[in-house]
Amino acid sequence: MIIFGTRGVKSTIKEGQFDCPQCEGQKRYRHRKVTKFFTLYFIPLIPLGSAGEYVECMTCKGTFVTKVLNYKRSTGNDQFLSEYEKAMKHTMVLMMLADGIIDDNEMLMVQKIVNKFGHNDVTLPELKDYVDEVQRNPEDVSTYLKKVTPGLNEHGKEVIVKCAYAVAASDGHVDPTEIALIHKIAEVMEMSSSHLKGILADMTEKDKKKNTFSDN
Ligand SMILES: [Zn+2]
Repeated sequence: MIIFGTRGVKSTIKEGQFDCPQCEGQKRYRHRKVTKFFTLYFIPLIPLGSAGEYVECMTCKGTFVTKVLNYKRSTGNDQFLSEYEKAMKHTMVLMMLADGIIDDNEMLMVQKIVNKFGHNDVTLPELKDYVDEVQRNPEDVSTYLKKVTPGLNEHGKEVIVKCAYAVAASDGHVDPTEIALIHKIAEVMEMSSSHLKGILADMTEKDKKKNTFSDN
């Protein structure tokens, strides 16, 4: 059997100092480019073109659109939410919308998770507005993540998997369909199964010690 497919391969175009919106200070960055390759037996052979690029902060590991290099803290705009924070919020809203029902408890739970894993707290009315917006243009979680994966580094992917797990675990148990969805999410983001296994083991361990979403 011949095993072939495609995979994003990352390379660094440039390094330097930038004003990181998340660290709120001058930090080192890497400007990363993602090139899609045709793979044969998991070995990237033929470049198929650019899949995207992003700027990664070497301190907080946040990834941003490349325009962030022009960002100055003094101008005080907060449009530079890191890519994984955007993706995390969007993924959770899509998961919440998947069953067609949104209740206040779910909304509160998502708000809690967004604020736990993100650097920019969202208020409940802000989240509700965002949900309305997403609802007008709903999308499958996999389709969405496939699109944003080239803007994410390993750290960002990890956070998204952790949030998906947190959403699944919020009702006290993680059932097989939820585990299947988490595997699907990891697969779409081209995360290795050993990496996923490690994250899940870590999350399950924490669950045993205490309910992750008891108040803290
Ligand atoms: Zn940073």
